[in-house]
Order: sequence, then structure tokens, then C-alpha cells
Amino acid sequence: MTNALTRLLETRDWLLADGATGTNLFNMGLMSGDAPELWNVDEPEKIKALYRIAVDAGSDLFLTNSFGGNASRLKLHNAEKRVRELNRIAAELGREVADASGRTVVVAGSVGPTGEIMQPVGSLSHESAVEMFHEQAEGLKEGGADVLWLETISAPEEFRAAAEGFALAGMPWCGTMSFDTAGRTMMGVTSADLVKLVEDLPNPPIGFGANCGVGASDLLRTVLGFSAQGTERPIISKGNAGIPKYEDGHIHYDGTPPLMAEYAVMARDAGATIIGGCCGTKGEHLVAMKEALETREKSDRPSLEKITEALGGFSSAQDGTEEGGDAPKRRRRRRG
Ligand SMILES: [Zn+2]
Repeated sequence: MTNALTRLLETRDWLLADGATGTNLFNMGLMSGDAPELWNVDEPEKIKALYRIAVDAGSDLFLTNSFGGNASRLKLHNAEKRVRELNRIAAELGREVADASGRTVVVAGSVGPTGEIMQPVGSLSHESAVEMFHEQAEGLKEGGADVLWLETISAPEEFRAAAEGFALAGMPWCGTMSFDTAGRTMMGVTSADLVKLVEDLPNPPIGFGANCGVGASDLLRTVLGFSAQGTERPIISKGNAGIPKYEDGHIHYDGTPPLMAEYAVMARDAGATIIGGCCGTKGEHLVAMKEALETREKSDRPSLEKITEALGGFSSAQDGTEEGGDAPKRRRRRRG
């Protein structure tokens, strides 16, 4: 299989991904509650400017503005009939920016969760989920995305449904989950669970990993969890720029560029190959990350102590992968 991402991975030890989509669009005037995907048609220059933040900072790949571009999410904005169009244009704008860069930049078609809960807990059937992901994948493919990029997923069923939808579109892909609940996803998936889930798929992703979640420290603990499983597959690390804090009516991320540079180097040491940021990560963070990755030697896997010293404490004592699953819960209860 040849695609721009696989080809880059064959010649490079690490790749720099992009930063935030949502937080950067809010800085450009997107209002909370608006569908960012509508801007692909209504504000194409702003979307190209968003993509250029990553390209100008030296990123090797960026995600398209299509995270919420599935029928279920777009229905909230009466735009469920525009899935194909909005995704196609998200990728077309990306293609235009990537191709003008004069180097290989991968256009990764972002695909987020449906926002619905799948059966048997919720009401979304496997077949409907597959079809939603398939429809979005076709739009991104038509617009010229090099690969698809599933992100911020919590439920294993949804991860599997997306993989199936992408197979129907015949597209290579990457996939990350958000480990935001004491080292697990909201639906209880641990780092070790995701490694197994990925390898059991008939069409496994090119790379897999973690995005968003809590802060950069938690994300690195999750990356260590992936590499502890001995996976050969490229690991993706896209952590938030620090911890979200509510300030003057908006969410602010406290991570500085030097902190994100430290995070990037440690992510590589922990075993990640594709390294970027998530919420709060701006161009200045990416520039600092790239400089650190280029100038600093790779070293040993960081210990948990080293991570907390450099980036701050974890949001939970355990990451869910420890032996004897209920031991940490008991401990937590005793602490009251
Ligand atoms: Zn995020």
C-alpha cells in the first residue's frame, strides 16, 4: 500500500503532526456551538489559514476541519445532507495548502465520534455507524485526503465501526482514542486494550495512539502503556497543551511552548513516532516541538517521576493497566 504517510514513515524516525483545530478556530472567531465544518464552505480562507499554521510551523501532517463531519453531528446544525460536500471541501482545501508547501505534507482526513452511544448500551446500531463513517470517508477521499484520521474515540465498538467504514472506502487510516478518565477512555478502554483492539482488526491502522485526554503528563503515561505492549506499529501522541482552565469566560490551556517541547521529546523517548498536540496547541508550540525533536538526542524511556518533574502531576494515581484491576479502586476508597 503506498500513501504519503507510509512513505514518510519509511524514511523518518519521527513525524511532527499538527496542533489544535477547535481552539485555533475559536481564536479566528468561531463561536462555541457553531459547526466548524460549515466554515469549509463559508470561510475557506480561514480554514486554509488554520492548515497553514501547521505547515508553516514545519508539521509533516495536518488534520482536516472535518472532526464533526458525520451525519449524526451535522444533523444538530440541519446539515446532515451535506456530509459528502463538507468533507470533500475540507480535504480539497487541505490538498491545496499541502501541495503549495513544496515538500511532502500529509493531508489527514479527521473523523471524530458520532456523538451517539452504540448498541447495546445506546441506540446506534453497528450498521448505521459503519454507514456514517463510510459516507464521511468517501467525502474525504474524494477531496484528496492521503489518509483518514479517527480521533477522540472512547468506545471500542465505535473504533471498529469506523475501521469498517474506512475499509468500504478503501482508505488507509490512523486512529487515536482519548484517555481522559483515570488513564482509561470514558468507556473504560486502557492503553493495553487499544493495542489489542488495533491488532485484531481486519484492516489495522497505519498508526494508533492517544489524543486529547487530560494533560501532557497523562498522555505520556498512556504512550508508555502502548509501548510496554511491544507493539511494532507507529504510536501517535497528540497531547493537550497543558491542562484546561476556565478563565474569563473561556477555556485557556496553560502549556507553554517550552513545556510542549519537553513533552515532544519525552513522547519520542516513550516510543511515539507521530507527535503533535491537541487542544491549546498553537503554531508557536509546534515550532518549539520541532526544534526540540531536531536538536535533542533520543534517550531512554522516561520514568513516571521524570514525566511529572518535567510536565506536572498525573490526574489520577493509576492508568488502569496495573495488575489486579480493583486494587487501585480499593486504595482510592481508603484514601477517601
Ligand atoms: Zn483535544
